[in-house]
Amino acid sequence: MVRWLSWLSHLSNTQKVPGSSPSRISIHDVRWDCAGGRLEWPTLLSTTSMRPFLLLVTGILAVLGPSTGRRVAEREFAALSGPSLSTLAASSDPSTNLDAANPSSHLSNILIPRAPDTSNNTLVRNYLVATLRALDWHVEEDSFIDNTPYGPKNFTNVIATKDPDAPHRVALAAHFDSKFFAASPLNQFVGATDSAAPCALMLDLAEFLNPLLNARAAVADDPFSDYEIDAEVADTTLQLIFFDGEEAFKDWTDTDSIYGARHLATKWQNTYLPPHPKRRLLASHGAHTPLSTLDHLILLDLLGAPRPRVRSYFPDTAWLFDALVSAERRLGDAGLLMPSTDGNSEGEKGLKGAGEGAGHEGSFFAQRTGHEGTLGYIGDDHVPFLRAGVSILHVIAEPFPHVWHSLADDATALDLPTLRRWNLILRVFFAEYLGLRPDELSTREAEPTPSEGAEAAAVRRSASEL
Ligand SMILES: [Zn+2]
Repeated sequence: MVRWLSWLSHLSNTQKVPGSSPSRISIHDVRWDCAGGRLEWPTLLSTTSMRPFLLLVTGILAVLGPSTGRRVAEREFAALSGPSLSTLAASSDPSTNLDAANPSSHLSNILIPRAPDTSNNTLVRNYLVATLRALDWHVEEDSFIDNTPYGPKNFTNVIATKDPDAPHRVALAAHFDSKFFAASPLNQFVGATDSAAPCALMLDLAEFLNPLLNARAAVADDPFSDYEIDAEVADTTLQLIFFDGEEAFKDWTDTDSIYGARHLATKWQNTYLPPHPKRRLLASHGAHTPLSTLDHLILLDLLGAPRPRVRSYFPDTAWLFDALVSAERRLGDAGLLMPSTDGNSEGEKGLKGAGEGAGHEGSFFAQRTGHEGTLGYIGDDHVPFLRAGVSILHVIAEPFPHVWHSLADDATALDLPTLRRWNLILRVFFAEYLGLRPDELSTREAEPTPSEGAEAAAVRRSASEL
C-alpha cells in the first residue's frame, strides 16, 4: 500500500503529504530521500508484521545535492597493528559494562522503562550526563517541549563532546528513550536492544577512548613528538548524541516520532558558531554551523541480539561500512572475538558464532552489493540530518530483532558475546578513524579510566520502583 510519493514534495520544496493510514506504517519505515541525495519511498509495512524490508528500485538517480553538510572525502584508515588490537581488547574488559547481570554496569543503569517526560527518563539522562562529565567532556542538555498525541511533552537530548572547539566532529548516536506504552504490563518495556545496549556501548567507548584522545592531544602539542597523524584527523573530535523521543507515542508519523532528532537537526542548521582559531582553516563557505562541522553521523539502533545482519545503506559511507567489516575481520583473525552463546570455543580464530541469519561468513555485516544507491533506507533518528545533507552511517539490525517492541526486548534478548564483539568493532573503528594507536599512545600518557562515577552510580533505580 503506497501512501505517498514524498520525493515529489521534496522536489517542489514543500512539506510532505500526510499519510492516510499511519496505523499501517512500521516504526522504522523504508524511505527514499531526495534532499539527502536519495529518493524517498513509502513503506508497505504493517505494524503487525514488525519486519521492515527494503524496496529495490532501479533506475532512480539522486537529483539534489546536500544542502548544508560538508562532504567528507574517503580516506584510508591507518590499520592498527597486532599489538594495538590486543591492547584494545585487553586494556579494559569490553564485556563488563554491557553485562545486565552486573548491577553497576552501564547497561544496568539504563535498562529501566524510560519513556520521555518521566522520572525514569530523567534518571537515565542524569546517569549519561554524570558518566560523561566524569570524563571531563563538554555535556549539553538540549531541552524542549513538543506536542505529542498525549499533549505537550518535555524532551531532552544529551550531547557530549570531547573537544567542543575542534574543527571536525564525528558523532556517534543512539536514542536513550524507551517506547511509551499506556497500560500495564507493556509499560514495563525496557527496550534492551532499542536502544539501551547501544547507549551502554557508547558510554564504554567514551571511557575507553578518552585517555587515548588525551594522549593524542598531548603529542599533537609536543613539537618534538614523532607520533605521525594526519592534521585533519588530529583536528577531529568525538561527539556522542543521545536522542530523546525517538519512539512514536502512538503510530509512527512525521510528527509522532524522532522528536529529539528533528529538534536538534533544525537547531544545528540555524545555530552559527562563533569564530574560533581552530576553525579558521575550514573550507566551508560562510559561517560555520554545528552541522557544517559534522563530518559523519553514525547511528546505532536495535543492536545486542545475537546474529544481527547490518547492511550498508548509503554510497557515500560505504567506505566507513567497509571499515567496520574490516575491523571485525581482523579481530576475528587475531582470535580476539568470543563466540556467540550458540556454540564455538573461546578464542577460536575467524568469525565464528554468528550463524544462520547473520551476514556473510558469520559476520555481523551483509556483503555489499555495490548497488547501495538503489536501496531504500529505514526511518530513524538520522533522517532529519540526512535531509540536511549530513553524511550518515546507519548501523541497525535488519531484520529487526524478533523481540522488537515487545516485553521480550529485555536483558534476556541480549547476547553478551555479541555485545562484546560490537564493542571491540567500535573500538577498532574509532581508534582508526581518530588516528589513535593504543600501543603507542598508552605508554605516553597514562590516565585511569573511571569504570563508573560515584555520582553516576547513585542515580540508578530499578523498574520495580516505578
Ligand atoms: Zn523502538
